[in-house]
Amino acid sequence: MSDTHCSQESAVGRAVRSGEWSESLEAHLRDCAVCRGVREAALWMQALAPEPAREGQEGLPDPRVLWLRAQFSERQAAAERAHKVLHWVEIACVTSACAVLGIWLVWSWNDIGGGIADRLGWALFDAWPALWSNLDAYGPVNAPILFSSAVAAISLLALAVAYPLLARE
Ligand SMILES: [Zn+2]
Repeated sequence: MSDTHCSQESAVGRAVRSGEWSESLEAHLRDCAVCRGVREAALWMQALAPEPAREGQEGLPDPRVLWLRAQFSERQAAAERAHKVLHWVEIACVTSACAVLGIWLVWSWNDIGGGIADRLGWALFDAWPALWSNLDAYGPVNAPILFSSAVAAISLLALAVAYPLLARE
C-alpha cells in the first residue's frame, strides 16, 4: 500500500479546492504519481460538481477524493493488465508461428531437399519433372506436403497480423 498513499495527499486535496499551490507542493507533484492522481480526481470532481456545491467544498470529505482516486488507479491498473496479457498473447502467437515455420522448413528440407539432392547427379532441369512425377506416383506424400504448406501459409498470415501489433508498441 506504500506506493498508493502519500503524506501530501490531503495537502494536495486542499490546494485543489482552494486553488492555492505552494512551490514545494508543486515540486512534490512533479515527483509523486500518487498526488498527481489525487489532483486529477479532485479536478474531475470539481468539474462535475454543480456551482452551488462548489462553495461548500471546503467541507467536502476526503473519503470521496480517495474513492475517486481509487477508481482511477483501479481502472488504470486493469487497462495495464489487459494490455500486458494481450502483449504476451501476441508474442506467443508470433513465437509459435515462427517455431512451426522453422519445423516445416527443416521437415521439407529433409523431404524435398533430400529428394532434389539425390537427383543432382542428373541434369538439373531433369530433376524437377522427376521429383514431381515421383510425388504424383506416391499419393500419400502429397498430403503432408499440402498440410505443411497450409501450416506455413497460416504461420505467415499470423506473422503478418502480429507484426504490426508488435511494431505499434
Ligand atoms: Zn505525494
